[in-house]
Amino acid sequence: MSMISTRGACPVSTSYAILRGLAPDGGLYVPETSPSFTLEEISALSGMDYAARAVFILQRYLPDFTEEELKNSISGAYGKKFDDPAIAPLKKVKDDTYYLELWHGPTLAFKDMALQLLPYLLTLSARKNGENREIFILVATSGDTGKAALEGFLDVPGTRCCVFYPQEGVSRAQQLQMVTTGGSNTHVIAVEGNFDDAQSGVKKIFSDPGFAGTMNEQGRVLSSANSINYGRLVPQIVYYFSAYADLLRDGAISLGEEVNFCVPTGNFGDILAADYAKRAGLPIGKLICASNANNVLTDFITTGVYDISSRPFYKTEAPSMDILISSNLERLIFTLTGNDAAATAAYMKKLSTEKRYEITEDMLVKLQNNYAAGCVDADALNAEIARCYAEDRYLIDTHTAVASAVLRAYRSQTGDRRKSVVVSTASPYKFGPAVLEAIGGERGGLDDIACCGVLEKMSGVAMPAQIAALPTLPIRHTQTCRKDQMEEAILHALG
Ligand SMILES: *Cc1c(COP(=O)(O)O)cnc(C)c1O
Repeated sequence: MSMISTRGACPVSTSYAILRGLAPDGGLYVPETSPSFTLEEISALSGMDYAARAVFILQRYLPDFTEEELKNSISGAYGKKFDDPAIAPLKKVKDDTYYLELWHGPTLAFKDMALQLLPYLLTLSARKNGENREIFILVATSGDTGKAALEGFLDVPGTRCCVFYPQEGVSRAQQLQMVTTGGSNTHVIAVEGNFDDAQSGVKKIFSDPGFAGTMNEQGRVLSSANSINYGRLVPQIVYYFSAYADLLRDGAISLGEEVNFCVPTGNFGDILAADYAKRAGLPIGKLICASNANNVLTDFITTGVYDISSRPFYKTEAPSMDILISSNLERLIFTLTGNDAAATAAYMKKLSTEKRYEITEDMLVKLQNNYAAGCVDADALNAEIARCYAEDRYLIDTHTAVASAVLRAYRSQTGDRRKSVVVSTASPYKFGPAVLEAIGGERGGLDDIACCGVLEKMSGVAMPAQIAALPTLPIRHTQTCRKDQMEEAILHALG
């Protein structure tokens, strides 16, 4: 199996695609053909633990890697850093509705599922491709990705990780999570500006040959851990198979029965992994794409028009989904065109020049065959947290609440009664103040961590140790920089 670019560049190996991240033509790497799994193989997953399931699935997606390499990587990634031995436990809540909890890793959000494994895949990929320089991961974060990347690359030999976050743009809990990171290969720098400033600064650094030259002289090569990397996409395929295997094991479904997944979506990475699982033979009915007030994807899936030209950007209580350009959508567009790189490149060009494109009728039919979509505003989001807590005694975070509410609306609109799984992407304690207010608690003048304490008392749901420990951890990173001095800030940090 080789990897091809959505915009037509030469095929490469899977390890090379992981090492490079983006294809040289600006496209994203996708597998040339999908692996496939028989129902018997899927059934056999039921008897395995999460790590064994991951080895079985990922072998087919990562043919450059030996079984031994995958076993070692996976057991290192999904081990004691997770607070639930199931790694991605499936909770039955009621009425054929399940929640797939993807936040039992070290940073309490689903990004750990990929970013705990990526460092292993990346360092193996470097070795396989004769890359001996230190891999220097640069990240701009609006909150969750930064900490997950820091935690994933922490003290991984041959790597170094530097995160830029907007000084005014992250929650106190998110900031504390980052600036208290230990390890000898981590750097965290606050940018005087917003997320866009941090993000465009990082993009500029990536395209500056002079800076790449300086890094090379220091024996370093820049790389990225963001969600367009194939190495971040494939670990996410595993948990869809795992959820299905759990349903089979528990006798909730029969082999071959279709299950829907409802996914709170931002960059379209998580839901795309479900699409890949479906292509590989997992019996999935509908993929329900859930959005908050930033509902560009809802409009796209219902009309076939992707339009950001006159769309306001809303800051919501589910910030990891506040996004207008979902970069992984390019991979789906490529599939819908029948793997037509020229057509895909043309759509992406239109998006950057006209801020809008419209897919063909034929593509829309294919899209709607697999996908449904919905969105909720702030009131509906908060009401869903309250309802879930009151009716089901189940505490969910703001992102999960978006999906939970969209699933309910989808069911009442369509009458689709297939068993459904809501993908739960963050611990409620990661967004403690919002969750507390949604269930009727008083925020008062309390800071984020104190709010979590009140939430724990009110709900009886234990606060994760990582949150409780935050105020006691020493602050290790205090560097700040102006948005036009990010390169200098890196050189200073490297000493
Ligand atoms: C990143 C994130 C999402 C969105 O996932 P995408 O793969 O970008 O669609 C949803 N919820 C949480 C908590 C996240 O951190």
